[in-house]
Amino acid sequence: MSEEQTLKIEKIQKGTVIDHIPVGRALQVLKILNIYSDIGLTVSIAIHVKSKKLGLKDVIKIEERILDSSELNKIALVAEGATISIVDNFEVIKKFSVKAPEVVIGILRCSNPRCITNTGENVKSSFIITSKDPIILKCHYCEREMETDEIIENIV
Ligand SMILES: [Zn+2]
Repeated sequence: MSEEQTLKIEKIQKGTVIDHIPVGRALQVLKILNIYSDIGLTVSIAIHVKSKKLGLKDVIKIEERILDSSELNKIALVAEGATISIVDNFEVIKKFSVKAPEVVIGILRCSNPRCITNTGENVKSSFIITSKDPIILKCHYCEREMETDEIIENIV
């Protein structure tokens, strides 16, 4: 069995599998989740995996960690349609796909330093999704538009 096949089918005992990530986005997803090499979790990453649905896809398996809803919303911003499987005791106990919300509140800083959400006024950031592929968010307050790279840099 090739190394790639092993990685694809190996089951985890407990944790989260993020499947059907648009190809090339796995590292962005890890960055968004603040997963670095020193995190102390076993993380498997498969890049450029053949997929019936997408042609090619990326897959991430994170052991011992269940993602919360704010993390799932962040993933949806760079990997809409990704499939999340929550695994416990080698069984998938929950499976769903992430969808970008219409409005993104609080998980992202506006890249405009003069925006009211950045000037200490205690106003939560709020963005409207104006495009999904590529994703573009527009600040509700100052109308600054942000694309993928800027979104990733400004996730909190
Ligand atoms: Zn703004």
